[in-house]
Amino acid sequence: MTDPRRLLPAVDALLAAPDVAALARVHPRSLVVRAVRETLEAARANSGATPAEGWGPAVRACLERLAAPSFVPVINATGVVLHTNLGRAPLAATALAAMHRIAAGYASLEYDVGRGSRGSRQRHCRDLLVELTGAEDALVVNNAAGALLVALSALARGGEAVVSRGELVEIGGSFRIPDILARSGTELVEVGATNRTHRADYEAALTPGTRLLLKVHRSNFQVTGFTAEVPAREIAALARERRLASLYDLGSGLLVDLSPWGLAGEPGVRDALASGVDLVAFSGDKLLGGPQAGILVGTATALIACKNDPIARAVRADKLTLAALEATLALYRDPEAARREIPVLRMLTTDPAELRQAAEALARGVGHGSEVIAGESEVGGGSFPGAKLQTWLVQLAANRLTADDLAARLRGRDPPVVARIQDDRVVLDPRTILPGQFEVLGGAVRAALDG
Ligand SMILES: *Cc1c(COP(=O)(O)O)cnc(C)c1O
Repeated sequence: MTDPRRLLPAVDALLAAPDVAALARVHPRSLVVRAVRETLEAARANSGATPAEGWGPAVRACLERLAAPSFVPVINATGVVLHTNLGRAPLAATALAAMHRIAAGYASLEYDVGRGSRGSRQRHCRDLLVELTGAEDALVVNNAAGALLVALSALARGGEAVVSRGELVEIGGSFRIPDILARSGTELVEVGATNRTHRADYEAALTPGTRLLLKVHRSNFQVTGFTAEVPAREIAALARERRLASLYDLGSGLLVDLSPWGLAGEPGVRDALASGVDLVAFSGDKLLGGPQAGILVGTATALIACKNDPIARAVRADKLTLAALEATLALYRDPEAARREIPVLRMLTTDPAELRQAAEALARGVGHGSEVIAGESEVGGGSFPGAKLQTWLVQLAANRLTADDLAARLRGRDPPVVARIQDDRVVLDPRTILPGQFEVLGGAVRAALDG
């Protein structure tokens, strides 16, 4: 008997088939050829069987998979507000509009329109940062890790930077502060113990080669029990006494007081600056709620050194970031507007009663025995570690499906729904579901449960 694999159509024959040829009129030919080859390959692997749906539809399905972008919007139903894997901060409407305006054409990125001459890309966010934080000067780069690299290179290259062992944090993606420090050309000197560091530990570590004292906010973990750390104020004072530079890596850029909403203990940018350190570094896309960016604020002298450092050029912010950041910062001129319009701040401060209503409406829409239960959301993104925000969850009744299977089905929807599994049940947290997403979400969940 002939091996059916030898009877498979040739690539050219399949490309010439009318329904495949029709695909080549709307898709790039190279992609159609690839889809044909992959469909044939799949048939060969399946003992040469003709696809059940027929060749044309099989090629079309393969083509759709190949043509689909891999970077897609998802619905975040996890309740983790700053979800690093899901892109941290969703942007405010004015930030989106600014990016769109700038991206669509040419813009005054490094052009002084009044003088008709070269300008600085730093001008756009600098004045707002100075106004909002009270700093003498500011610099925006690509991300906070980049900001640290610039600051350390500018203020301590070729010398030593002293940091507490209790503050050597891993900042996600398994990158550690010490590794970043090493690349800045600075030698790291660790002092104290993991749980306790005292002023005397810093003093004992000072040598003629010491250039900088570094304080790192423990942004993504808590140390409890028998602990001691030296506050930024004392680090700044010691640095001034010994004519050293001081840098405070804050992680999150909190610009408003969230303590009325039960979120306390995260140092704000203004407080960090008021401690007297030369420079404060923070992210644009954590609690600030803007685009990915690294921000340095501090003294004029420290910032001139940073701006003149070649690393500043290597990690400079792009025009879309600057557009979105300027628009986000402008919202902070009215803290109430910032809280309402910056999605991260709105989600963190949503009233539990409102979340309960949203959960109940969602549960009604989903049906299938879903229930509303009390639960907790997380801030995420290495901010307010350990803080729990009271929320209301929709707990799905999976019937014959395991929680993992149901979660996988939800991820298979368009747009994918990322849910949380808690006590072997799939739960949806309305806190991180955007206002326009509830209806689509309801449909996706019903389909996943029915499927
Ligand atoms: C998140 C974080 C960083 C890194 O910020 P990116 O903007 O992600 O580069 C650095 N330091 C601390 C303390 C952080 O929490």
